[in-house]
Amino acid sequence: MCGIAACVGADYSAHIVKHLLIQIQHRGQEGAGLAWITPQGQHRLIRNFGYVVNAIPDVQEQAPMAIGHVRYSTTGTYTRKIEELHPMYIEDGENVLFLAFNGTIANYKQLRKELEQYYTFVTDTDTEVLLKLIHREIKLRKDIIEGVRQALTKVQGSYSLVLMTKNVLVLARDPYGFKPLSILKKDNILLACSESCALTTLMAETTDNIMEVEPGQIILCTKDLEIFYNNVDREPERRAFCAFEYVYFARPDTIFNGVVIYDARRRMGELLGEDENETIDIVVPIPETGRVAAYGYAYRTGKPIEDILVKVRYLGRSFIMPKELRSQIARFGIVSTRLRGKSIALVDDSLVRGTTMRNLVNTLRRLGACKIHVRIASPPIRYPCFMGIDFPTRQELVAHGRDVEEVRKIIEADTLRYLSVENLVKAIGLPEKDLCLACFTGQYPIPLDVSEKEREFYREG
Ligand code: SF4
Repeated sequence: MCGIAACVGADYSAHIVKHLLIQIQHRGQEGAGLAWITPQGQHRLIRNFGYVVNAIPDVQEQAPMAIGHVRYSTTGTYTRKIEELHPMYIEDGENVLFLAFNGTIANYKQLRKELEQYYTFVTDTDTEVLLKLIHREIKLRKDIIEGVRQALTKVQGSYSLVLMTKNVLVLARDPYGFKPLSILKKDNILLACSESCALTTLMAETTDNIMEVEPGQIILCTKDLEIFYNNVDREPERRAFCAFEYVYFARPDTIFNGVVIYDARRRMGELLGEDENETIDIVVPIPETGRVAAYGYAYRTGKPIEDILVKVRYLGRSFIMPKELRSQIARFGIVSTRLRGKSIALVDDSLVRGTTMRNLVNTLRRLGACKIHVRIASPPIRYPCFMGIDFPTRQELVAHGRDVEEVRKIIEADTLRYLSVENLVKAIGLPEKDLCLACFTGQYPIPLDVSEKEREFYREG
């Protein structure tokens, strides 16, 4: 998962894109990048590791066009090479092609083999393959839209992307619609961002003026803000909006496929609270992403909610840290006086590896909770994702090959309940056929061999 942003038409587009990236920092914390075109047609690029505010200085230079990226790597070896950060680029004579993308190209290794006769590769990432594939097709077709269309027709996987040359910006979303991408056209400016929350927050806009790039749509925007719409030349039988965006990834004030993330999470919590048969004294949300579901759960069960877990704010999202950087970090402070002798419902959005939950359950018990009922506002994650989330092997998933009781024993809770797949779909409110639920069900929307992909995507930790 990553975040992308773009701006065309503002005097200081690079400055605006930096601030869009800050709004979507939760989508990637390994590094950030910003590329822009000056009014004189020169191109500039800054890429650095760390959070946006540290990685990218304030850009004072005028720029009619800019794109940017926050990185969360899902392919390649985690090496901390600056070349792995986006935007990636190819200089081509007088022109340049920049790419920033969010997603995972499942067939990138095969595509790379075909491209190796034309290009030298400096990273092991799918992004570099995608950039070179698009560059090659544009050269062959001598037309940017035709080149992008042809390249994307060869790609299997998930992507929302922004491309920039010295003259145009191109936006595209894969035909399944896995990942979000929103746009806002206001006065003489076009803004694009992975999440609508960045556009509404930065521009103080209502959501009415935000559009989502349609699945399979390609949008070309010139420096003069002429906009052309086109489509990827491949129509899948179905959509596959990532259900995990609703569960965990996106910010609550984002709209994804017309659904407000907050509303979906709240409904997940309410449905989770249906038929609760344990005695619960207090509902304890696991911050931040478990909180909205906990509100729904507390509302449905009629139990008081107590925010007694205090998130250590400056830690970042441990889930999207590369595995090499994850450690037994202390993620929460605990107001222990509120839990002594209490039976608590501990509500989280999802359970992936289970190690953080087991540590937390044990700590809460040690601090005096008498019963700990873990409530998860999504179904058991039993299968890996090859479309943009970094849980690539079955062995890493605590629920793979285990029933709920076996998982309960591992996390050492008194009871454990998950939301069913049926209720997850109901909470999101979109037809099941339009959602990717593969990490819960093992039914992948794109044809792939799980064992083969696990080998390809496995990264040494
Ligand atoms: S497998 Fe899960 S995380 Fe991956 S795209 Fe599908 S729903 Fe999203």
